[in-house]
Amino acid sequence: MSLIHLSAAEQAAALAAGEVTSVELTQAHLDQIAATNRPENGVGLNSFLHVDAEGALAQAAASDARRAAGAPLHELDGVPIAIKDVLATEGLPTTAGSKILEGWIPPYDGTVTAKIKAAGLPILGKTNMDEFAMGSANENSAYGPVKNPWDHTRIPGGSGGGSAAAVSSFQAALAIGSDTGGSIRQPGAMTGTVGVKPTYGSVSRYGVIALANSLDQLGPVTRTVLDSALLHELIGGHDPMDSTSVATAVTGLADAARQGAAGDLAGVRVGIVKELQGDAWSAPVVERFEESIEILKGLGAEVVEVSLPSFVHAMAAYYLILPAECSSNLAKFDAMRYGLRVTPDGDPSAEDVMRASRDAGFGNEVKRRILIGTYALSSGYYDAYYGQAQKIRTLIIEDFTKAFEQVDVLVSPTAPTTAWALGEKADDPLANYLQDLATIPANLAGVPGISIPSGVSSVDGLPTGIQFLAPVLEDARLYRVGAALEAALTKQWGAPIAAPAYAGNGNGEA
Ligand code: GLN
Repeated sequence: MSLIHLSAAEQAAALAAGEVTSVELTQAHLDQIAATNRPENGVGLNSFLHVDAEGALAQAAASDARRAAGAPLHELDGVPIAIKDVLATEGLPTTAGSKILEGWIPPYDGTVTAKIKAAGLPILGKTNMDEFAMGSANENSAYGPVKNPWDHTRIPGGSGGGSAAAVSSFQAALAIGSDTGGSIRQPGAMTGTVGVKPTYGSVSRYGVIALANSLDQLGPVTRTVLDSALLHELIGGHDPMDSTSVATAVTGLADAARQGAAGDLAGVRVGIVKELQGDAWSAPVVERFEESIEILKGLGAEVVEVSLPSFVHAMAAYYLILPAECSSNLAKFDAMRYGLRVTPDGDPSAEDVMRASRDAGFGNEVKRRILIGTYALSSGYYDAYYGQAQKIRTLIIEDFTKAFEQVDVLVSPTAPTTAWALGEKADDPLANYLQDLATIPANLAGVPGISIPSGVSSVDGLPTGIQFLAPVLEDARLYRVGAALEAALTKQWGAPIAAPAYAGNGNGEA
């Protein structure tokens, strides 16, 4: 097995045992990126927008020196990581997938970046994403789409298609994603990777380029449940720089994953969400979902159906609250302080410059959401739209509270279908929005969620995902149940679910 095929936990163990150096691990991942990213000639995944080979190798060398001195900073010290381009990284370009931020080099680190550096993980680079994290296919990136490692003619999901494709293609075992309505979990389902949206406020948002502040959450993207737990513990915890940060410590997640992997779910109550079933869900996704439910029962879980009636309004509420918040957040891109500036001919006013810059700098989906949000927040319509949406949000929170009186975790498929063809839905915003039916309620209520691969579709051979949701600050439950199912599925499929062309012998793409 080559170095890139090790999980992060295995890489950490190999480092601790002195079997490998961080420089070797980092170089192996950089080689895989060089062999498979290749956006310049239109071949390759385009999962990275920026690769920092020199910086990563210098960080790796420093990590090796620490280990040689017997003083690693963290269990994951020396394990390389990729970061979604939505998070500020001092000295590394940060664009949020937008032309308006092309060339911006943040003068500071976001808190999660700072934690990663403080733990000694070499940063490989920044991953591609839908512009300002708006999308479900990564086709809204100003820097071109990302290809799905399972099939290069398919989308990798969005908005975090870059992080998901990077992890799925063994360019990195660890990546950071952001999830506002599903952007960690849905790409996880599309690429056969694990993705976690932590409890709102438990991972700092300081230094995240905001999409919708009340929904955004950073989280781990990995190939195993244990790796997500390790990364989640590393990035979580209270941060005085984020006013919505929760004061609770984020611990016990890796222990929960290890406990779960032992395969005993006796006494765990699992609720199938009644509202996340039906015609919208494709047969191959449902087939794998039902198989996973049987496995959970076999592990001793008690499975019941639970109704959360307001979920049917979640999508409508989300597409008012999100545009409202993003129309306000994006107002700062005014071409005056930083980012793109387009100066029209003649004697333009400041307003003319702003208009020309925003016209050139923002893509269609971003403009669409600014328009919707500005409309929803206008004085005549505020109560009718934004106010109503906030009421639905309260109902959804109440539904969760009631459901979690009956069960420990909720379960549904992560996304209605497997990955579709690049271009197929590019001009159909609504078709993209509908992909997040199952993921959005968690963001509206602030509860944590995990997506893990549930198998491979019997129709198109592409991966399918299953999602678990837990009460606020009970993220550990996701890791216990997720790891139990993951272990059972690995046994059933004979190997971890992974992109065939990349999972083999480390030879890169097919
Ligand atoms: N697909 C959703 C959207 O376009 C999710 C975005 C996200 O989670 N960042 O808004």
